[in-house]
Amino acid sequence: MPETGSFTLFRVFGIRVQMHWTLVLLALLITWSLYAGWFPRVLDEAPPSLLLALGIAGAIGLFASILLHELAHAMVARRFAMSVERITLFLFGGIAHMEDEPPSPKAEFLMAIAGPLMSLFLAFLAVGALAVGGAAQAPAWALALVAYLASINLTVAVFNMLPGFPLDGGRVLRSVIWAAKKDIVLATRVSSLIGQVFGVALIVFGLVAVFATGSLGGFWTVLIGGIVVRFARQSYVALLVKQALRGATVKNFMDPDPVVLTPDATVASLMRAPTRLSEQLVYPVARDDRSLVGLIDLRKTKGVPPPEWERHAVREFAEPLPEGMRIGPDADAERALRKMNAAGSTELIVVEDDRLLGVLSIHSLIRQVQLFLAGPRRALPA
Ligand SMILES: [Zn+2]
Repeated sequence: MPETGSFTLFRVFGIRVQMHWTLVLLALLITWSLYAGWFPRVLDEAPPSLLLALGIAGAIGLFASILLHELAHAMVARRFAMSVERITLFLFGGIAHMEDEPPSPKAEFLMAIAGPLMSLFLAFLAVGALAVGGAAQAPAWALALVAYLASINLTVAVFNMLPGFPLDGGRVLRSVIWAAKKDIVLATRVSSLIGQVFGVALIVFGLVAVFATGSLGGFWTVLIGGIVVRFARQSYVALLVKQALRGATVKNFMDPDPVVLTPDATVASLMRAPTRLSEQLVYPVARDDRSLVGLIDLRKTKGVPPPEWERHAVREFAEPLPEGMRIGPDADAERALRKMNAAGSTELIVVEDDRLLGVLSIHSLIRQVQLFLAGPRRALPA
């Protein structure tokens, strides 16, 4: 499933390469700035058509460089049996999507370092080509293009090695703390904090640049800083939840004896139904043998005035259970949480072969995360 705002470009080694729409704007911006800024500075007598061709080639070269950087991460991830289904090229780089956390500090270290090493390698290749091309008196425009590729690959390598999670450098740092302390949660907390500090520093630096020089280029830095802060926080929270729910399935947390309404029950009995959770808005509708009929949502019955509650049956308002709110008893608890998120619901109905098994509430999952944070954490095997 492509994420919002992204579309698929092509597949390579079975990995789907996606592009976020913001990248189309960025590609135009980069082409233009190369055409109007970078190349005219180094090639003063080039005709505009050549400058434009170089601008386009430079932008393509930049994205190819980022893609190779991400593919390097993906290949090492595969080597450690982590599946990489897709790579998204983004505003300021790429993301190789990995479903799982790395299995060991060593796996994470190698996976994280692979991208910057690839970028460094590409920069060295470009510098080598520059030396050979210069000695062989290659045309100035070709040398200018190669020089540009050398500089951007070096930039990508250096920027990504800054030690804030989730940048590559932050992942390297996390793997080192993880190996030393045998605690991935602690390691993630420290490296994500450094990532946030670093992101805030970028924002401040960008704002100072805007006000001090009056140039708008600083806003770029502010934007990247904001993204770094957000990602650093999100990835820490996501990891906590993942760790807290590790190995747990839906049936560990579901209420196997939930409030169930029969199709013939009145709206009055729905309104007076005992609630274990005052926030609960949906109830399963099932027959006495627990074969599922569907779902009733209190928001659908709220238009019925209290004097008429006795006159209406639940079946009038029941609707079939949407796929997004149905889950099996053996599904991962973490997957259930993602499903709730996607459905915008605090409950999922647990069903097997159209028989109602229970209701899973977000509160029981949240409680598990709280217990995980409070108790002594199981250290993961290093
Ligand atoms: Zn990277």
